[in-house]
Amino acid sequence: MDHPEPDFTEQLRALVQNAQQNERTLRRFQDVELALIGARGFAAFLDILFLRLPRDFGLDAVRLCLDDTCLPLRDLLEPRTLAAFGHPELLVDTSARASAARLCEGSRPWLGSAQAACDAFNALFALRSTDDEVQAGYVSAPLPASAIVLPLSQDGVPIGHLCMGSSNGERFAADMATDILERFASIVAASLDNVAHRERLKRLGMTDALTGLANRRYFDERLREEVLRAGRHGVPVTLLFFDVDHFKSINDTHGHAAGDRALVAVAGCARDQLRVSDTLARYGGEEFAALLVQTDRTSARVVAERVRQAVAALDVRDDDHRPMRLTVSIGIATQSFGEVRDARETACVVQALVDEADRAMYRAKHDGRNRVQELD
Ligand code: GH3
Ligand code: MG
Ligand code: MG
Repeated sequence: MDHPEPDFTEQLRALVQNAQQNERTLRRFQDVELALIGARGFAAFLDILFLRLPRDFGLDAVRLCLDDTCLPLRDLLEPRTLAAFGHPELLVDTSARASAARLCEGSRPWLGSAQAACDAFNALFALRSTDDEVQAGYVSAPLPASAIVLPLSQDGVPIGHLCMGSSNGERFAADMATDILERFASIVAASLDNVAHRERLKRLGMTDALTGLANRRYFDERLREEVLRAGRHGVPVTLLFFDVDHFKSINDTHGHAAGDRALVAVAGCARDQLRVSDTLARYGGEEFAALLVQTDRTSARVVAERVRQAVAALDVRDDDHRPMRLTVSIGIATQSFGEVRDARETACVVQALVDEADRAMYRAKHDGRNRVQELD
């Protein structure tokens, strides 16, 4: 039998090593991406970008350059809000925007060393010291030796740039593959949209203070929107209603504070079982509602069962470290209907869906709790 040539074996080993290295890098990116997607507010989002990203990837400078005139970001980037976050790495001035755009000609990523760069590079990475810092003799960090600047867009609309720099002059070279980093940039842009959305909810008083979920007011509004949209496209609307079983006795046995923690745990656990595009709300005291977009009855059963099992598997302890037995009863409602013509028709469809989910949930209670039910 032929043996492979030694240099072939060597090449193979190098390839495998390369693949393993790539996989490790990918996994580290995925961890940061998941953290960004799950960021509950703008402050948490910025901390991940400016504190965690440099640490996890050995970067010496990260800048986020955003267009404060584009609609989804306008409220987020209000001067008062920005001052409260205190991150000089977040650039919203027009000159930073112009510098990034100059580097990324044709909205393509730019990579290279400081030598290959121009004033635009310096303008992006040099942080201006505040008067206090100058007085205190603060010396600003040196410019990176190489960097990548990635355009960010939401639904095809440019919203800014993500810039990452390294003190290693060869870290970012013009001929480097950028697919992983471009993917990362698209996750940053999508997460930013998500964060802007969450911040908007907070401002409008549409989130529940205890669990951080949307509240009933927001849910009802989303449901109306979805009924209109689904009617136009001829797709069904699917709801889940779920209620924590015997929650009164959980409060009685473990105390109200532990009960609150249990509600937070149930909320987070259910959120993890749903897609980012689904809406989960705290509908009432220990009652939650989920709007599952583009989900038929069969998939809804799978999702509901997953939520039920995940809640039953939660390990939440009271102040004395005693486990609390948490289960939920879930009702499913799915309805298809034609195009709705006015507010009155929308309200009728919404009411019918909510009634169906509520009755299915009570059937699950009646049939013994910790189960999923639907009406025939
Ligand atoms: P079932 O299985 O039939 O749903 O029984 P249950 O005990 O869960 O239902 P019931 O409606 O009798 O009790 C709900 C309890 O939830 C009563 C209320 O004090 C408690 N609750 C509602 N909101 C909160 C909250 O924010 N925190 C805590 N700790 N308890 C809450
Ligand atoms: Mg209840
Ligand atoms: Mg209950």
